[in-house]
Amino acid sequence: MTRAERLARPEVLAYVGLGANLGDAPQAVRDAIAALEAAPGVSLVQASSLYRSAPVDATGPDYTNAVACISTTLTAPALLRALQTIEDTAGRERPYRNAPRTLDLDLLLYGSAHIASPDLTVPHPRMGERAFVLVPLSQVAPELVDTEALQAVAGQGVERLAATD
Ligand code: ATP
Ligand code: CA
Ligand code: CA
Repeated sequence: MTRAERLARPEVLAYVGLGANLGDAPQAVRDAIAALEAAPGVSLVQASSLYRSAPVDATGPDYTNAVACISTTLTAPALLRALQTIEDTAGRERPYRNAPRTLDLDLLLYGSAHIASPDLTVPHPRMGERAFVLVPLSQVAPELVDTEALQAVAGQGVERLAATD
């Protein structure tokens, strides 16, 4: 991409789901929000509070979760690569599916785009069944989350952390 093309790219509003359950998970999520804000082509619009949730389909420590609304000039594949770079910097390893992790960054929504490529599915295919995504998402973008969708996941425990946790 040339510099002129990059400058001409429009801003797209995107939503990123953050999760961590190894080490100091709340700090890892805060650091990741700062790293997102610092990433080239990304600006932070709003971050949700931090939340605590029990692991789904897995064992291990509780998760810290959040959702960040960003504005970006990156394409969706380039944004996914930027998210993976931040995960790698946090020491993310993938020993097996749903393994505990130092940091997980999922691209939930990229504007109104529907993407189905081998490496990237948007909207994130499992976001609608996850309280740890829908609850923080409804905090930053209530218009994007139906009341019925929230009710459907109400049985999953998700607790908002105090700002000092
Ligand atoms: P889940 O997707 O169920 O939340 P996970 O986050 O544990 O599971 P990962 O191991 O982090 O899964 O990612 C596996 C692959 O998912 C990545 O290599 C990436 O290419 C792919 N992927 C597809 N769509 C997305 C998306 N919207 N956001 C992030 N990764 C995605
Ligand atoms: Ca995930
Ligand atoms: Ca992921």
